[in-house]
Amino acid sequence: MAWVHDSGFEPAYAHVGYPVPIQIDGSEAVASSAPTPLEVLGWRSACECGWRGMQFYPRSEWPGATALAPDGVDGWETNSASFAEWKRHLDQVLPELAVHDLVNKLAVVEARLAQACHEARVAGLTWSRIARAAGGHPAVDAARQREITYRSNPTFRAASRAARDHGAAGPAQ
Ligand SMILES: [Zn+2]
Repeated sequence: MAWVHDSGFEPAYAHVGYPVPIQIDGSEAVASSAPTPLEVLGWRSACECGWRGMQFYPRSEWPGATALAPDGVDGWETNSASFAEWKRHLDQVLPELAVHDLVNKLAVVEARLAQACHEARVAGLTWSRIARAAGGHPAVDAARQREITYRSNPTFRAASRAARDHGAAGPAQ
């Protein structure tokens, strides 16, 4: 099984990791000539970029019926063993990957926060009450600024005028 850090950061796709089988003669097995279990001495963490992990995982300690690395060596499901080694390699060659991933998460949280502010406004809350709940966090002020910009948009003004003419109540100012 191969590992890819699939979070949309282009340079990370050059690094595809996998536990490479090491054969009795010390050579790595190539995918096109899958070795039989008896020919496999163990495994080592590997990356398509050429990087190899320091740790050797002998088959005598991690027996398996096939030449494929058992789960305990693969480590993908438990974030351990050869997978964890490869992840550390990725962090070393691409230290900015964490920045990319956290900014992505931040964008998701900001969108959720904007939605929560919007729902609080629709429920009739004032911005000062929302800001109090947020402990004065600047992200809430950014959401308020967006509402001001949106309300000054001619399309919104026409729609809210029409709603007022029909007796609908708008959100609190
Ligand atoms: Zn790599």
